[in-house]
Amino acid sequence: MAGNRTKVNPALVRRWNTARMFHALREVGVASHGELVAMTGLDPATVTAVLHQLRADGWVRVADRDEAGARPPQPGAAGRTGRPPVRLTLDEGAGLLVGARLEPGTVRLVATTIGGRPRAAWQGPAGADPDGALSALEDGVDALLSDLGAARSAVRALGVGVPGLVARDGRVVFGPNLGWRDVPLRTRLAATWSVPVVVDNDTKAAALAERLFGAAREVRDFVLVAGHSGIGGAVHLDGRLVRGAGGFAGELGHVTVEEGGRLCGCGDRGCLEAYLSERAIEAQLRERGVAVPGYEGAAALAAAGEATVLAVLDGAGARLGRALADVVDLLDPECIVLAGSLAHVAPYLTPAVERALAAPKLARYRGPCRVVVSPLGPDAVPMGGVALAMDVLVAAPDAWTPPAAVLAGAAGVLAGADDATDATG
Ligand SMILES: [Zn+2]
Repeated sequence: MAGNRTKVNPALVRRWNTARMFHALREVGVASHGELVAMTGLDPATVTAVLHQLRADGWVRVADRDEAGARPPQPGAAGRTGRPPVRLTLDEGAGLLVGARLEPGTVRLVATTIGGRPRAAWQGPAGADPDGALSALEDGVDALLSDLGAARSAVRALGVGVPGLVARDGRVVFGPNLGWRDVPLRTRLAATWSVPVVVDNDTKAAALAERLFGAAREVRDFVLVAGHSGIGGAVHLDGRLVRGAGGFAGELGHVTVEEGGRLCGCGDRGCLEAYLSERAIEAQLRERGVAVPGYEGAAALAAAGEATVLAVLDGAGARLGRALADVVDLLDPECIVLAGSLAHVAPYLTPAVERALAAPKLARYRGPCRVVVSPLGPDAVPMGGVALAMDVLVAAPDAWTPPAAVLAGAAGVLAGADDATDATG
């Protein structure tokens, strides 16, 4: 209809272009203007303008001659102009991002460069109530910064992952394993930090980390299942994290897998979490006369071939598979990522999950949905905090999907990129 054309918001376009450039440089490490044009698909003048702004803001600097990116420099390109092109990189000195994971009794922190390269990690005990958790978090950040010889002013943004229902305004509406209700966590942190602070559900944060740094870097459609004290789920579709109307989408842990089954921390019966969480695995083993500390202990006994442990893990895997089979039919994800401490027992769950995913009627038309284990280990959630911090500073990480050649660090695919004018300002 005439007069009803979509208007493009120039500020949004600028933010989106900046995000593309930032994430392109983050992936390859070092790139010339021409390579950035080829990688991002932006026109040379736009790349010049965005680079100018990123350099003025102190986020990007000219790389030293001996700094190498993921992709080696191309001698052919330099040969044509008689001098090597100016190469750019994110400025590691531009400040720090801090990511945190709050768990019952524990805070874990990671500090990274603005590009997400880990510099230091810290873990310590935390009080059970919000006051205790917050003061442990503040003390932990100070300890981390002191290790790095950095001041609080070096922190550019802070992201926190919390196990529970977190509203879009960073309020913890309900944290069953923390015992928290209606805690305005973001507002309270913002009172002591003048930089952006983001608080989100721990599993959603972990999904962003997988997309940026982990198992889902080249995957636009995936479902993440994370296990610690509880079981969390996150849905990432078409390059975006699905949050739902209230911000609570993805609560796979409370999907019913057994009518009238085991009692769950949420008060309901038969939830997936009541079979698969760390304490649920411990409880099921204890009832069978096997005492183990956590997923790690269960994994050690499973590796030694202990039949009771293998049977309990296989049963938990079958229930996870039952829940995921419906999710796969509904959403058609490319892969399922198993993350968090749950990764310890993933090898003993995966066969049952794969059996369940092969069973649905549609599987034979759709092809298999892969089950992969997160490479981020115990830092999946803190790195998720870093991903949240990065997201608030430079916009959606999904603004740019790295080409396969960039992920593989392969040379040659972008050949000829430096034919474009080198104008970095
Ligand atoms: Zn439940």
